[in-house]
Amino acid sequence: KVLVGNLIGEDHVNYVLMYNMLTGIRIGVSRCQAKVKRPLTPDDYTARHKFSFDIVGNELTPSARYDFKFKDYAPWVFRELREEHFHLDPADYLLSLTSKYILSELGSPGKSGSFFYFSRDYRFIIKTIHHNEHAFLRKILPDYHRHVKTNPHTLLSRFYGLHRVKLPRGRKIHFVIMNNLFPPHRDIHETYDLKGSTVGREYPEEKASKNPRAVLKDLNWINRGRQLELGPEKRAYLIEQLRRDSEFLKEMHVMDYSLLVGIHNMQRGNRDNLRRNTLKIFQPDIHYGLRRRKISQSGKADPSEAMAMRRAMRSSDPKAIGNDSTALPESDSEDRRHFIFHQDEGGYRATDEANEPMDTIYYLGVIDICTPYTSLKRLEHLWKGLKADRHKISAVPAAEYASRFLSFLTAVTRGGGGGQRFKPE
Ligand code: ATP
Ligand code: CA
Ligand code: CA
Repeated sequence: KVLVGNLIGEDHVNYVLMYNMLTGIRIGVSRCQAKVKRPLTPDDYTARHKFSFDIVGNELTPSARYDFKFKDYAPWVFRELREEHFHLDPADYLLSLTSKYILSELGSPGKSGSFFYFSRDYRFIIKTIHHNEHAFLRKILPDYHRHVKTNPHTLLSRFYGLHRVKLPRGRKIHFVIMNNLFPPHRDIHETYDLKGSTVGREYPEEKASKNPRAVLKDLNWINRGRQLELGPEKRAYLIEQLRRDSEFLKEMHVMDYSLLVGIHNMQRGNRDNLRRNTLKIFQPDIHYGLRRRKISQSGKADPSEAMAMRRAMRSSDPKAIGNDSTALPESDSEDRRHFIFHQDEGGYRATDEANEPMDTIYYLGVIDICTPYTSLKRLEHLWKGLKADRHKISAVPAAEYASRFLSFLTAVTRGGGGGQRFKPE
């Protein structure tokens, strides 16, 4: 997979799906958002709200261009996650996702079959997920919430919403909305997806030299002698957070996750323009009044809010305008300043052994965290284990996965400007 967006115009195969996703999010999220915040109850974790859209529309749902059904899962929990823990401005969230910005599609689907979409401003990613992952995320949602609460700097994917659309012939598509780890305003010069597993974990070097956006893997990292160059202070923070996060994933019996590492070299800066000429996006032709309006404290939607919402709902036709990349933000978004690992230009700047800054910024996060070690993975483990070392393949039980992940990352982190290279055994 490469971080390149493809335009989704009206003739695109996924246009209807996209339209339905965004319409559903807009209505579902603004509905919850229009109410006064209240403390969560246990039922909020299992709650799901259904919406039926059709071309006629009704009291609850505005008319839409297509017939479809939409489900919003645990809306109050995700609202609390977004506002209390991830420091997102509610109106910004909706606007980024559904107002001025429609999405671009990320590369081609990987072996999991998931599709990725970027919001226009590049802050959010929509990932379609398998039904099993969806069910799993719902199951662990209370634990995930607790973990995020007690670990404000967690490196785990930030989940902002969990939804499903059902198309008329019954096809169900589940998706999550999460943070894009990479910034809109910095070229990423190298990308790695690290699991701590070495079997089959290599992107062919001859292809990599032609493609600066290739997602490289563990063996590329080792063979190129890469290190996370962090002095004692930053190293301690990172390793401690990774330890807690992997401990959590172990308790959830999750495996197959990775640390996604984007490297920005400040010397090189943005001169290669790796983002701009490739991020094709399109813009819907809608303007709706849901800007930073205060939400009423009365328990009901404030009438002006409701009116704005109705206006918003009427005008919902995204229209492709093509390759407009000049509108990418020039700076980092506000929410990232709250987090240690996103404190430097949205990332984590390298330091030397004296904790002095160096010329590299890392963009880091633990991604793909919804795969439990199920019987399927166990089978893969046995099968691949026949051909290769059972402990080096990626499918190992969760406890083994977590400790291997953590020891790999500990081994490849050291102060910049000297020291030894990591050598795999
Ligand atoms: P598989 O199960 O085959 O590994 P997947 O479809 O579950 O794939 P992920 O592993 O979640 O996909 O992500 C695939 C790639 O997409 C990552 O290697 C990374 O390049 C990009 N990506 C995923 N999540 C993010 C994110 N939050 N921010 C930036 N890039 C991301
Ligand atoms: Ca993955
Ligand atoms: Ca996956």
